Amino acid sequence: MPAEITTLLTFFGGTGDLAKRKLYPSTYNLFKKGFLQEHFAVIGTSRADLSEVEFRQMVRDSIAGFVDDEANAEAFISHFTYIQQDITDQDSYKAMKELNDQLDAKYDLKGNRIYYMSVAPRFFGTVAKFLKSEGLITENGEFNRLMIEKPFGSSFGTAEELQNELSEAFDEAQIFRIDHYLGKEMVQNIAAVRFGNPLFDAAWNKDYIENVQVTLSEVLGVEERAGYYDTAGALRDMIQNHTMQIIGWLAMEKPTSFTDTDIRAAKNAAFNSLKIYNAAEVAENFVRGQYGESADGSQKKYLDELDVPADSQNNTYVAGKLQFDMPRWNGVPFYIRSGKRLAAKQTRVDVVFKKGLNIFGGDVELANPVLSILIDPKGGIEFKINAKDVTSEFLTRVINLDWTVSAEDKQLTPEPYERMIHDAMNGNGSNFADWNGVAIAWKFVDAIQEAWDAQHQDFPNYVSGSMGPVAADELLARDGNEWIFKG
Ligand code: NAD
Repeated sequence: MPAEITTLLTFFGGTGDLAKRKLYPSTYNLFKKGFLQEHFAVIGTSRADLSEVEFRQMVRDSIAGFVDDEANAEAFISHFTYIQQDITDQDSYKAMKELNDQLDAKYDLKGNRIYYMSVAPRFFGTVAKFLKSEGLITENGEFNRLMIEKPFGSSFGTAEELQNELSEAFDEAQIFRIDHYLGKEMVQNIAAVRFGNPLFDAAWNKDYIENVQVTLSEVLGVEERAGYYDTAGALRDMIQNHTMQIIGWLAMEKPTSFTDTDIRAAKNAAFNSLKIYNAAEVAENFVRGQYGESADGSQKKYLDELDVPADSQNNTYVAGKLQFDMPRWNGVPFYIRSGKRLAAKQTRVDVVFKKGLNIFGGDVELANPVLSILIDPKGGIEFKINAKDVTSEFLTRVINLDWTVSAEDKQLTPEPYERMIHDAMNGNGSNFADWNGVAIAWKFVDAIQEAWDAQHQDFPNYVSGSMGPVAADELLARDGNEWIFKG
């Protein structure tokens, strides 16, 4: 059994979809593994008028698929309490404080608190403010921490406003901004592969790497989310957060140690040197797209989707080139792309190494070695290298060394939410987005959005089921490069 973590865990939005699908099952898994034992309590809060019995039944239902021992599940559920509140009502925090103190005494929680905001982003600042003003942040606790769902703002301005509200009550080390991509096993594997192997560690720079590619492609269209998506687009929905956080692991300096402080410092060394584009540079380095019909007509174009304005200029596809002005990366393009209705669902990183000097002569043609980290849907690592071909003359061919996450490994892999709650309980911020990185990602993305807003583009410009606009291929071709993943 591991050492237990002593804490009170409060879920705002405790009857919501996320709580039921992810947060309660994840917390239960932590209980089953012994990270939570006796000294913990969970409070669910929401607007819904529920008795404690009804709430516990809701939790029971949400963990049903994970239960292998009924008595153990009941022991877990017995630590749950519900409180109905309108989180915008300051007075409601008084009853909550009383409940916190009672549970603290009952379970000997030592004043340790984690507040998880699984509510709409417009509430984040309000909740933080009242937690502070109504005395729910303990003086005696070893820790008081805030876990925040996404999105963190919708522009640099709104994100900064939110950050200012949060920092009135919590300092940066207490704030755990969730980006569930950072909780994914294969995203965390980037660091293991890069820093765990001197071969890659030593070569992770402009001398050996030609370019780096990050792809987050989806097959689905906008579905029923147009109300939100038409105001966000791929740029804000996928690039500002997930893509930039993956880039953080790839572009960072080597941390002096594997602690969250050093990891953040190393990532920020890269984020701080990201070139923010002016309008002309946006036109040169970024491509936007919006999907049209599929070739066989079975998929409709974005403009015909439910709730999408007929003249929408929204981007359902983004590709671009990032440049880091730092000695490690001078001249190395980082290409990123994300979009809907593409040929394949795929989240992956392709690190394209430089070609070696061809000493073989004759008809030998060497290829760029490529290290690919496959994140979703299939976890794995591929390394394509030059090797000898089976001919009587000396020729080479590309061979692929590949490893796929086994079904057994998959089963043992914690869900991102389980990992993130566990990390926050341990105070480990390595896999959370920090403010500096979030702020720079917003400034970068805002500059692109601003340039696009000022310029009308004819849409649609890619066929549903393709890998996006031709301009995205041309972007790489201009540098003499091509996308490794072709759908
Ligand atoms: P939801 O609409 O299903 O649940 C919202 C919860 O907030 C409910 O429990 C509701 O009672 C509560 N609530 C609303 N207004 C309230 C008020 N005034 N006072 C008290 N409680 C109030 O939402 P969700 O899908 O669970 O999402 C919650 C958060 O998680 C959002 O920030 C969302 O962006 C984020 N998120 C959700 C998912 C997901 O898969 N559902 C994934 C990623 C991020």
